Amino acid sequence: MHTSKRHLAGFTAIVVMVASVSVLALPLSSDDWASMPRWSYAGKTGPSYWSAMAPSFVACGHGKAQSPIDLESRDAKSGKAGEFHIDYEKGAVALVNNGHTVQANVSDAKDTVVFDGDTYRLAQFHFHSPSEHTTDGTRFPLEIHFVNEDAKKRVVVVGVVVKLGKPNDSLAPVLKSLPASDKETSKGSTPPIAVDVGSILPRDHRAYVYAGSLTTPPCTEGVHWVVLKEPIQMSNDQIASFTRIFPDNHRPLQKANGREIDNESE
Ligand SMILES: [Zn+2]
Repeated sequence: MHTSKRHLAGFTAIVVMVASVSVLALPLSSDDWASMPRWSYAGKTGPSYWSAMAPSFVACGHGKAQSPIDLESRDAKSGKAGEFHIDYEKGAVALVNNGHTVQANVSDAKDTVVFDGDTYRLAQFHFHSPSEHTTDGTRFPLEIHFVNEDAKKRVVVVGVVVKLGKPNDSLAPVLKSLPASDKETSKGSTPPIAVDVGSILPRDHRAYVYAGSLTTPPCTEGVHWVVLKEPIQMSNDQIASFTRIFPDNHRPLQKANGREIDNESE
């Protein structure tokens, strides 16, 4: 190592500066994604290398409130913060394969989450295989993330885990149309697909609520997580329709670092 102390100090200052900027950074628009380094879930561009791939990814390695985490029922407290109400309705989505997942872009402004009194609108939902969060150590075959933003670009993500079971009628139209590659959709996305978004969620809206981050680069913190406890079901074929395209697109568990996990229900 030839790095002098002075260089190290300078480097540390830059890292601290970038880290604090990245925590405040707004979620990226789709235009920004195209210019990002080509991160992945394996090898030299996998999760343990994300923070070294770009200065804006530094939170992926140095953040102290990262997601996903293991959610332990015995550690969860009945907190006062994190009151929420989910109101998703019938609408239409357009599917995009962005190389990391299949994302269902929602254009209706009607789908909302009220979190701590503020209204967030559903922008998109997407899939991870296997689940990113674990509950009491259990990992599920899939996890769906419903990403909601408010006017200040703050983010609430509603996480729904999927277990093997009955065919899922609500998601059937989406799962039948998953674009197998980013080249499959000529105009960047599928034609609109009618979906009753509210009916995708489990009936029971009891949830673990905690403060975390995006689980993909730039791993931006300040994300409110609402992970619903009741799994929804999908058939083996339905789960396979996603895992055929993305066999593994989950980020490993991150350190909780003493963060509080709250039990909440609507
Ligand atoms: Zn996600």
